[in-house]
Amino acid sequence: MATRKAAFKRPAVRHEVPEGSAPEPADDSLEALREAAKGCKRCDLWRIGTQTVFGEGPAKARIMVVGEQPGDQEDLAGRPFVGPSGRLFDQALEELGVDRRQVYVTNAVKHFKFTPRGKVRLHQSPNPAEQRACRYWLDGERERLHPEVIVCLGAIASKAVFGSKFGLMRQRGEWQALPDGGKGFATVHPSWVLRQRGSEERERAFRGFVADLALLTELDA
Ligand code: SF4
Repeated sequence: MATRKAAFKRPAVRHEVPEGSAPEPADDSLEALREAAKGCKRCDLWRIGTQTVFGEGPAKARIMVVGEQPGDQEDLAGRPFVGPSGRLFDQALEELGVDRRQVYVTNAVKHFKFTPRGKVRLHQSPNPAEQRACRYWLDGERERLHPEVIVCLGAIASKAVFGSKFGLMRQRGEWQALPDGGKGFATVHPSWVLRQRGSEERERAFRGFVADLALLTELDA
């Protein structure tokens, strides 16, 4: 997907952290984890993205949503789910009557990976080593939030939460039990819906996306 070119501004703290590591969180809070992640150099993606894009939402959220990685707009804003995919996700929740303000949103990988092509930055999927390195932050968010439900968007998030054998198109829209007592399910990434060619295909894909997310309406009030 073609995206705009970025204006780079790196936080100075990045140069004080050794390669392959990250600052220790000052305490067990989500806020301390977020602060530590700003200086992360656990993989090489800190060199590429503008900044760490950490999760966002209430610390007592019942629902945690995990996407793949920040996109172009998220990278520049430093906030997850604010680009076209995030807006499509918001639209789906609105149709279902799910309050977005009660949802914590994050990504499996917290830096934007891309290839420059002229004036645009083309999204690139994080490789397995980058995904493994960034699990540290996702696991930290899960430990601190203890969400009742985790919703995974796309294959990378699904495998990070449900394991490497999880088959997205085979198991999407089905509740899965999690070892910590919670539960979750997976659906496609909204960027996949946006990539469908033709308005009919896109509408069909969006309907399937909303149908999967409708599992959230089964939760007790
Ligand atoms: S992608 Fe994740 S592990 Fe890699 S540098 Fe960024 S925050 Fe750290």
